Amino acid sequence: MHSLVEKTLDNTMSNVPPQKNTIDSSAVKHWHAETEVLIVGGGGAGISAAIEAADAGAKVMVLEAASEPGGSTALAGGLIYMGGGTPTQTACGFEDDTEEMYSYLLRASGPNADIEKVRLYCDRSLEHYDWLIRQGIVFKPEYYPNKHVNTPNEAALMITGNEEAWPYNAHAKPAPRGHKPQIKGDHGGIPLMKHLIQSAREKGVEIICDARALNIIKDGAAVVGIAARIDMQTKYFRAHNGVILTTGGFIMNSEMVESYAPRLARGNHRNGNPNDTGDGIRMGISAGGIGINMDEGFICTPFYPPRQFIESIIVNESGARFINEDVYHGRLGSAILDRPDGRYYLIIDSRHFETLNRPPMGGYPVAGTGDSIEELEQELLLPSGTLVDTLASYNRYATDGQDPTCHKHSKYLIPLDQPPYAAFDLTVGNGAIYATMTFGGLDTLPTGEVITADKAVVPGLYAAGRSSAGLPRCAEGYASGMSIGDATFFGRLAGFSATKRHLNRT
Ligand SMILES: Cc1cc2nc3c(=O)[nH]c(=O)nc-3n(C[C@H](O)[C@H](O)[C@H](O)COP(=O)(O)OP(=O)(O)OC[C@H]3O[C@@H](n4cnc5c(N)ncnc54)[C@H](O)[C@@H]3O)c2cc1C
Repeated sequence: MHSLVEKTLDNTMSNVPPQKNTIDSSAVKHWHAETEVLIVGGGGAGISAAIEAADAGAKVMVLEAASEPGGSTALAGGLIYMGGGTPTQTACGFEDDTEEMYSYLLRASGPNADIEKVRLYCDRSLEHYDWLIRQGIVFKPEYYPNKHVNTPNEAALMITGNEEAWPYNAHAKPAPRGHKPQIKGDHGGIPLMKHLIQSAREKGVEIICDARALNIIKDGAAVVGIAARIDMQTKYFRAHNGVILTTGGFIMNSEMVESYAPRLARGNHRNGNPNDTGDGIRMGISAGGIGINMDEGFICTPFYPPRQFIESIIVNESGARFINEDVYHGRLGSAILDRPDGRYYLIIDSRHFETLNRPPMGGYPVAGTGDSIEELEQELLLPSGTLVDTLASYNRYATDGQDPTCHKHSKYLIPLDQPPYAAFDLTVGNGAIYATMTFGGLDTLPTGEVITADKAVVPGLYAAGRSSAGLPRCAEGYASGMSIGDATFFGRLAGFSATKRHLNRT
């Protein structure tokens, strides 16, 4: 039996040398600066933490390794997962319910879900929406109805995950919950971070750039500061209330990816910024924290748009379908990287091919063509009769709007019965895009407090965003918006908790 407990233990980093040391505060001769809340990493989680801490009355400082704050959040599509009846959902004519959102997100978070975090996130989703609006973020109340990786126009709202796809649609009522800050095109992370950074600065938050945090400073069991590299010198920053680690994930650290998340190492596009090297996770472990869910991450192979590809079928080297083709691209990517050495093809007929108005987003080369499906089957070197049988069965049921094999939604079921046929190659290593980022990170309470393997709080240490194991827990269930939603929401909670914790000031 491979129990959940065993899986969790397998995925921890507790048994690994953290490659970082803590520094004892007695060794610090001169504090370069003192603050109440010290935040390491000025991306979505860090700046949200800073705003909340400043609002709660703390003096706040952010150390940022790059020359500008923003992190991967600024590079992102900017989708934020929110629901339960947001003003944008309502303005676009959608009803949503917190319980439906909870039911969906719990399933989307997979077997390692942090139930407490999912519950809190859903219960406070409307409040989080209001908070984002208060920071100046605008969501244009317009719904983008097609399946896409992001809204390609200014529209704020779209369905971003597996909500309408089996098996999720059998457990929760679907609703569009991806909210993109207003911008022409799909770079919603830019206006998101612009407004958050501006808000933080207006509240007096000091953001120090070109400052790479190296080590945690401890006084006994408590975390009291950070050593950082600035202008080729090591400088010591004292934090009277707490240190919040928000340095993002570790997809750019090949050694960590290969050790902890080998499935992600098979990807060919790392989704992130150059500083996604796991510094916060490693610092947190050095101070007593533990990394959990380390093998998990996002795996995207963007096979849509166009819609014609959703109406096609995807088969493996046995000529068999293995997934409903209306899933979120991350669910397909996850299924393929579960068996990365297999061959995978998207089979399309001429009715669909001839109406294509764009090449496949995922960079898939053409693997073969055939005047008949038999000819295509031979060209792809599939076992005789397999693809022929698969397509015959698919077409028979699709005519009646049914898919008993993989449960694709009836709105995408159109028989693929117009020869000639073509196959696009989704095989890993043959040119298809497999973009990855990590989900594993420090184990934290919903308050952001970093906890040890024994679930004890590390005094004065907090983490949020991809430095922590938050809401996104598994590739097969992930929906766009869960990461930025998690980073901004739980970043806020960490900022608030750190502010409310008072060490004895010396
Ligand atoms: C192209 C792209 C599109 C995406 N689209 C979406 C989307 O639409 N919706 C969604 O939910 N997610 C999306 N994601 C994922 C999402 O952007 C990230 O998972 C999330 O923003 C991470 O937030 P964070 O605050 O944890 O990290 P970041 O925003 O990356 O912030 C971490 C910061 O810490 C800094 N840092 C790192 N190490 C140190 C150090 N030692 N000292 C000081 N500073 C340090 C970094 O420079 C960075 O500024 C996308 C990602 C990419 C790359």
